[in-house]
Amino acid sequence: MTYLAEYIWIDGQKPTAKLRSKTKVIHDGDEMPIWAFDGSSTEQALGGESDRVLNPVKVVPDAIRGGDNVLVLCEVLNVDMTPHESNTRVAAVAALEKYGDQEPWFGIEQEYTFYKDGRPHGWPIGGYPAPQGGYYCGIGADEIWGRDIVEDHTWACISAGLNISGTNAEVMIGQWEFQIGPVDTVAAGDEVWLARWLLYRIAEDYDISATLDPKPVTGDWNGAGMHTNFSTRAMREGWDPIIAACEALGEKAEEHVANYGAGIERRLTGMHETAPWSEYSYGVSDRGASVRIPWMVDRDRKGYIEDRRPNANADPYVVAALMTETVCSKLA
Ligand code: ADP
Ligand code: MN
Ligand code: MN
Ligand code: MN
Repeated sequence: MTYLAEYIWIDGQKPTAKLRSKTKVIHDGDEMPIWAFDGSSTEQALGGESDRVLNPVKVVPDAIRGGDNVLVLCEVLNVDMTPHESNTRVAAVAALEKYGDQEPWFGIEQEYTFYKDGRPHGWPIGGYPAPQGGYYCGIGADEIWGRDIVEDHTWACISAGLNISGTNAEVMIGQWEFQIGPVDTVAAGDEVWLARWLLYRIAEDYDISATLDPKPVTGDWNGAGMHTNFSTRAMREGWDPIIAACEALGEKAEEHVANYGAGIERRLTGMHETAPWSEYSYGVSDRGASVRIPWMVDRDRKGYIEDRRPNANADPYVVAALMTETVCSKLA
């Protein structure tokens, strides 16, 4: 049987990389081959030596095309098979190799905003909708825009075998969230990037785009984050490692914020359920802290913590690698 493989990769755009993909027709009996692309069109090469290599790292069923078709998540290599400098996955693999014995788990909350005709989906032409307050987890055509896309996306993620754990409408109209996890340091990146690709691709069919802009509308409107929930086996078993993890993140706060997505100071203002980007804090149930300890974790004296700082446009490989390194090196 001949089928289609959609090769998906992350480009070299700065400060925020974007997804690319192209289709390969695969004939019966063929292996899933490494493939190549024009790196000079993706900010991953100069024209004179433009070939870059797509190395498949995860193959999943493609619910959009159905049948035997697949999605192929790739990492980008140079022609000598060394990782390209834009390849952030290698750091996640290294962190997991180093600290895998601590069993790091991630739960990633990916927020995003639908756009149609150049404005957030559901926003009136040339004006503003009613102030936020009723939209979070809302119901009804006056508050909810894009639910069909969200439903299709959820099922596409499930069909692809991704560990999607939930979705919800967000505080700003047109804004939504899906959660991936718990999964390990490498899978966190693989699955969030694949789920992002599926979101963009499915929204295409509705003539709607999805953006990860961390602050799509300035003023009294919530930004979009990528809250990152994290635990190790020790944190899942006791309280002291929970506090040690919060303290470890505080010691490296500057490095973390610098790696949590472009434009983070536009979103972490201290308003709209954020802590100021320049001041680290942690607390139980505190949505105004950098890192929140969920109330049931406080009650059970074990569990996980939520780093609320990463932007929606953060690279989950970078965030997961850094958190693994920072926390696990202290808990070791
Ligand atoms: P919030 O209350 O902040 O909106 P969500 O319910 O949206 O939280 O997301 C919580 C995420 O944390 C989910 O993806 C969930 O799978 C994940 N999670 C649950 N337990 C753990 C754990 N022990 N370690 C890491 N992540 C976890
Ligand atoms: Mn959430
Ligand atoms: Mn949210
Ligand atoms: Mn959250």
